Amino acid sequence: MRRKLAAGNWKMNGLSASLVEVEKLLEYHPKPACEVLICPPATLIAQLAWRIKNKELAVGGQDCHWNASGAHTGDISAPMLVDAGASHVIIGHSERRADHGESDALVQAKCTAALAAGLTAVVCVGETEHQRDTGITLSVIGMQLAHSLPDDCTAARVVIAYEPVWAIGTGRTPTLAEIGEVHDFIRKTITTRFGAEGNGMRILYGGSVKPSNAAEIFAVSNVDGALVGGASLKASDFGAIIAALEAA
Ligand code: PEP
Repeated sequence: MRRKLAAGNWKMNGLSASLVEVEKLLEYHPKPACEVLICPPATLIAQLAWRIKNKELAVGGQDCHWNASGAHTGDISAPMLVDAGASHVIIGHSERRADHGESDALVQAKCTAALAAGLTAVVCVGETEHQRDTGITLSVIGMQLAHSLPDDCTAARVVIAYEPVWAIGTGRTPTLAEIGEVHDFIRKTITTRFGAEGNGMRILYGGSVKPSNAAEIFAVSNVDGALVGGASLKASDFGAIIAALEAA
């Protein structure tokens, strides 16, 4: 049985005062039936981790460097995330692939660094609108999986997030059949490569998940949860998504 996961990606949003939303969330969901993860900006990780000590909530980073330390001004390493209280890290989000030119090889190196530090890596893949329109979605996802995941991926420590680039922050989503097709393809691909570990890895859907569409998305085969951007910023919205996942 794969444990469902609701992951919130705050992106470059949130100041100390925003952590009140997490407190509200914990009031609504003190003992969620699924795993809940919040990835705030790096500046809030230590503060959030401290505030939620002994609570059923995990804290994650949104990126890490592939080296553990060194002359990399402005970067944050995986051991630093662990030191700040993070247990997870998002790797290869499409905004980092686009804004920072991150290649699959770099994503793989970051994933290796995250696993070496003891973090659970949430590795993102997804096609652009042009790639979907030209019918190459599955081959794009297949290439990203092949080159972004290191060989030592396990079900306990790696989560895949399928996030169509064109659905992120746009309010648009693929059809349920399209989501199912990609998730089934990812399951087949990772099971072929990693065996039982691949069968046990969670596959999240991400891209404009909100309270109004969460339940139908969670009913799709091989959708084990969601990576949520905008709707994770408000406790009421994220709480409703968590409730939909608990009921799925
Ligand atoms: C994301 O940033 O991972 C994301 C899915 O964003 P949104 O939910 O806002 O589309």
